[in-house]
Amino acid sequence: MNRKAFIYQLLATIPAAGLAMNLKQLSKISEELPSTPKTPVLFLGHGSPMNAIEENEFVKGFRNISTTFETPKAILCISAHWETQGTQVTAMQSPRTIHDFGGFPKELFEVQYPAPGHPELAKQTQKIIQSEKIILDESWGLDHGAWSVIKHLYPKANIPVIQMSLDYRKSAQEHYSMARELNQLRSKGILIVGSGNIVHNLRQVAWNKLAQPYGYDWAIEVQYKINQWILDKNHNALIHFNKQGKAFQLAIPTPEHYLPLLYILALQEHNDDIKIFNDQPLAGSLTMTSLKIG
Ligand code: ZN
Repeated sequence: MNRKAFIYQLLATIPAAGLAMNLKQLSKISEELPSTPKTPVLFLGHGSPMNAIEENEFVKGFRNISTTFETPKAILCISAHWETQGTQVTAMQSPRTIHDFGGFPKELFEVQYPAPGHPELAKQTQKIIQSEKIILDESWGLDHGAWSVIKHLYPKANIPVIQMSLDYRKSAQEHYSMARELNQLRSKGILIVGSGNIVHNLRQVAWNKLAQPYGYDWAIEVQYKINQWILDKNHNALIHFNKQGKAFQLAIPTPEHYLPLLYILALQEHNDDIKIFNDQPLAGSLTMTSLKIG
């Protein structure tokens, strides 16, 4: 079969109405959001909510990274702290600051991050994800996975932020595949931020070494192996993190703090630079490792 015949046959497998709608939607997205050079993507290890108000090397790392690229038009954040049935995006005009933690000082509960929302971007995101129906949410807001780190990137809260939830029913592979569909937002001036922690086992925290750059052997092993796989672009090993042995089971006992990393890796392109920063173990069973791709 020649190339032309092959393409015709391929097109014949797509329902005509669907194809027409997809092309129409894509051209509409291009019209509504003008093209820009590719925006990098970030994975930020958020650690303790206290990082929102403390001054330390990690928040310096967040601040520094924001100076290395153009100010985005808006931010789409995938936070470890919003898990839902089905994937949702926040679509309100003014997202509230959610203090989704307990036992911290009053000062932390008083922090407000009044960045505007971006209902139009939420609708665009709903349109570009073809593999499933994204739900527009009017009730969430910005949880601390989002605001405690974005606050350091853009302290004036003048960049609109929307959040995308993690569908707890999806496998790691399914998260990764869906995340790839977000790619075109990178050429629309949208900064995509994943916020979690790669090694995150709160049951194993060394309470006597809370703020110390200390990691258990298994935490260090996982930190090292994951960094190597990131640099080698071995996404297959990273997607199958739960098949990598005992150290990984201890380091990633539940997936929600790890999955935002897969969203960021899924958006990687061939010629993107990879920069690892804030690469430190903490309190035995956490790592603050963060990543800029692009
Ligand atoms: Zn967290």
